[in-house]
Amino acid sequence: MDKATQAPSIAQRIGVLGGGQLGRMLGLSGIPMGFRFVFLDPSADACAGETGELLKAGFSDADAARELASRVDVATFDFENVPESSARAVQETCPLYPAPNALATGQDRVLENSLFDSLGIEVPDYHAVSSRTDLLEGLDRLGYPAVLKTRRLGYDGKGQAVLRDSEDLERAWQLLGDSELILEAFVPFEAECSLVAVRGRDGETRSWPLTRNVHSNGILKLSLPGVFDDALQAAAAKKVQALLDHFDYTGVLTVEFFLYGGELLVNELAPRVHNSGHWTIDGSSCSQFENHLRAITGLPLGQTDLASYSLMFNWIGEMPDKDRAMAIPGLHWHDYGKAPRAGRKIGHATLTAESMEDLQERAFQMAEIAGADFPGLLNSLFD
Ligand code: AMP
Repeated sequence: MDKATQAPSIAQRIGVLGGGQLGRMLGLSGIPMGFRFVFLDPSADACAGETGELLKAGFSDADAARELASRVDVATFDFENVPESSARAVQETCPLYPAPNALATGQDRVLENSLFDSLGIEVPDYHAVSSRTDLLEGLDRLGYPAVLKTRRLGYDGKGQAVLRDSEDLERAWQLLGDSELILEAFVPFEAECSLVAVRGRDGETRSWPLTRNVHSNGILKLSLPGVFDDALQAAAAKKVQALLDHFDYTGVLTVEFFLYGGELLVNELAPRVHNSGHWTIDGSSCSQFENHLRAITGLPLGQTDLASYSLMFNWIGEMPDKDRAMAIPGLHWHDYGKAPRAGRKIGHATLTAESMEDLQERAFQMAEIAGADFPGLLNSLFD
């Protein structure tokens, strides 16, 4: 045996701006492949810290971003509101994927929609709002109902309000009028769905099955892949491919859609692994987390097939009874190690099954244990 083959392999170090559950799941996926992680996060108890080193610093601290970069071989982010300046500071020292161009676009809903327009990707009608006059003009053009959203920093339905009449308008203006806004036509969609795709450094692209999503109060509650036909899958993949090529993207990109009149309208993009792709950990040959790591480190991409019928339940604020849930066959439990707090994503579970019938039966068992609005949401999913 020569010296080179005796040498221990040197772990490739991955830096992550953000240390939330997405970072944690990147860590959990990457450690078996020999990667080691450093996370930057303002919170000393960021849950990704259990899977790597944690550098406690604010996201706008460019010196801390440089420090992170100096300790790793390649960097990424698990949080799309990282300031572009910090992402560029990382890039001074080490490669960062995806590149900050997608990050900056995803941070501003008007910029995002202008890009979709320029690429011929359909979005709900919208109107940029910087003043009350703009809002009134927008409502003249789009009519009620409409959705008023902050241009920046909105997520999980925060920073947005549905306007059904002029009373709602006054309330929403009081609440949001201090920010730059966007007014969107309200889409009475048949379904919401998302496509999670991955592009390697060499430009090879793969996507997982289009996934149907159910939200309540703006937060994702259920994700069910594999229920749309090939034509819709191809239509979604074409739109996402145009974005990946535009950004010369490396890593996982997620696009959320409204299905309306049988056509896909884009709601928004997320330049990162995504909550609606969590089922891929247990239900696909290669998870979104593993493929993101493969992409950013230049490894070949893994298979993105639906290996089992799958359904993800999101645990918001509280977890159901774990003992009862885990007695359901095919139930995979994920606890992020975060303190429970109202509105906070603290875990999820993915059910897998050999047939859609088994999946449905197990899903109703899980929904009964979870309580709250799960049984009703599940009925709407399987109706
Ligand atoms: P967002 O933060 O933009 O993803 O919005 C959160 C959720 O609010 C979406 O998943 C939809 O359920 C709902 N929503 C957002 N925009 C619209 C719209 N223009 N029409 C109808 N529902 C919307």
